[in-house]
Amino acid sequence: MTHPRGAAVGDYRAPLFVAWQLTNRCRGRCLACCEESGPGKGIRQGGSWQAELTKQEALRVSRDIAASGVSYVAFGGGEPMEVPHFWDILSILSKGGVRIKIETNGGTIGRSQAKRLSALGVSSIQISLDGPTAREHEALRPGSSFNKAVRAVRCLAEEGLGPEVVFIPMKRNVGQAVKVYRLAASLGARVLATGPLMRLGRAGAAWKELAPSAGRWRTAVRALKAEAARAKAGPKLSIYPWGIQREIETRLEHPQAMVLVVPDGKVKLLNALPFAPGDLRRHSLAQAWTRCLGAWRDPKVRAFCRKAVKDPGLLAHANECWPA
Ligand code: SF4
Repeated sequence: MTHPRGAAVGDYRAPLFVAWQLTNRCRGRCLACCEESGPGKGIRQGGSWQAELTKQEALRVSRDIAASGVSYVAFGGGEPMEVPHFWDILSILSKGGVRIKIETNGGTIGRSQAKRLSALGVSSIQISLDGPTAREHEALRPGSSFNKAVRAVRCLAEEGLGPEVVFIPMKRNVGQAVKVYRLAASLGARVLATGPLMRLGRAGAAWKELAPSAGRWRTAVRALKAEAARAKAGPKLSIYPWGIQREIETRLEHPQAMVLVVPDGKVKLLNALPFAPGDLRRHSLAQAWTRCLGAWRDPKVRAFCRKAVKDPGLLAHANECWPA
């Protein structure tokens, strides 16, 4: 059966969407960090990324992305906004017409940074708030500052950037979801984004201690929906519908036109999978994309995915980089 051009990922000569982890360094040591980021995590020993891309390499990759027709780049971390050449990367992408999303703890965003982000036309900025007070937020996100995150959301809202507040549900805070929604509303957030806890990184390693039961999560979702309906003009609710194993299952059958670039330039299929078929130190983005498409068809990759859907133990390899 034929399909129209653009209906299958193989029709594209480059991904439409690039998720780019610029660094693993972060002031935070969040209990549920799915990338295992934190202070001193710039160089990871023992098999994963060994050294971050240099400024020169990162700018070359940015130009390659802009020239390849990529629609959207989402920066995550570690803390992307503390990478010294972050603004240079943004400038290249913005001039190249690439839409930009940033996931940040908000620690560096005040009024002037909000204006700068606005001038660059950044489309989406997400800041995590895992509790309605400093005590509750910082207990789950040690090293992060509640006051700075709140200030960042407020400054971005004042600048008309429509910030998104992200809430990660854990045993200790799942009952606080509505309070966080109300806080996000009071700060002028455009969206409250949440979803089931992802069984990856530190969240995966401490799953029993951290993960709320399915029942408590369902209750929180119901309460959030009721609150959003009641608030009417409050932030839009965006609830990711499934956990990471269902995500793998879905992507296996329907790969997206996306790749994940990790701090040393390796190109992975998905944050939950260890396969890294591309390397932007050696390949262009188009070459890395072709290699990723091939990897999705590789019987070994497919067998691993099918196994990981049933055996969460395999998710412990998510932050590794295996050649594929
Ligand atoms: S702020 Fe984000 S990147 Fe940093 S440790 Fe927390 S979850 Fe991880």
